[in-house]
Amino acid sequence: MKFLKLKLILLAAIMLPVIFSCKNRDKSASEDTISELSGNPYNLEIIDTIDDYLKCVSQNENNTLVDLEDYIPNVAIDIKYATPDNFTGQIVYSQPKAYVRKPVADSLQKIQTILNEKGLGLKILDAYRPYSATLLFYEIYGDTTFVAAPWKGSIHNRGVAVDLTIIDLATKEELLMPTPFDDFSPKASHTYTNLDPIQIKNREKLFNIMLSNGFTHYEHEWWHYNFKDRDYQLMDLSFDDLEKIKEILKSTK
Ligand SMILES: [Zn+2]
Repeated sequence: MKFLKLKLILLAAIMLPVIFSCKNRDKSASEDTISELSGNPYNLEIIDTIDDYLKCVSQNENNTLVDLEDYIPNVAIDIKYATPDNFTGQIVYSQPKAYVRKPVADSLQKIQTILNEKGLGLKILDAYRPYSATLLFYEIYGDTTFVAAPWKGSIHNRGVAVDLTIIDLATKEELLMPTPFDDFSPKASHTYTNLDPIQIKNREKLFNIMLSNGFTHYEHEWWHYNFKDRDYQLMDLSFDDLEKIKEILKSTK
């Protein structure tokens, strides 16, 4: 009997690390995980503390959320969710920051080099998005064609999706695309063709360079691209937390 007890304790000790994982696991694997988190009404597995995030980074450097402005010095950033000028009409992000996981940043850096040679450059419109913003977006706009289903979480919450466009480096002007960012209409779709040929050409320019460098497109939004490897956890760290983390990582280097 004692031996059985010991075996059970050992088994529990082996099982314990399964509760905390830096890798994305499917719903069936996470369903039995008890969430103690507030702001997590769908009981998802979400990294929402600096400590858990740092554990993931120490397990695998690819988990690092990279600040694109640090990583790609001449990248243009225009984060509408850090202003009231977005579909919610309110400031959602505490800072106008664009973070993505390291392999995504590497690909974007490569794309930027290719574009720069042609006098063009990337403008990032949104990147990592805290899970709490995904909850808010769905509350305001309940159509999951254009905002992520909060019961699954957004690929932006995993740090492997990016919303972006192309600018002319000389003028800093955006190339003419089919619609503005976050235009939730059929015109934003990749299959929409009732457009000026320049708009189609520019949409294709972005599509081609993204797809040849590790990204996949999203049918309904010309500006949204997902990284091919999405095997990363949902996160709910604020942009202020990410700034703190940058300082912590700097001091431990
Ligand atoms: Zn997006």
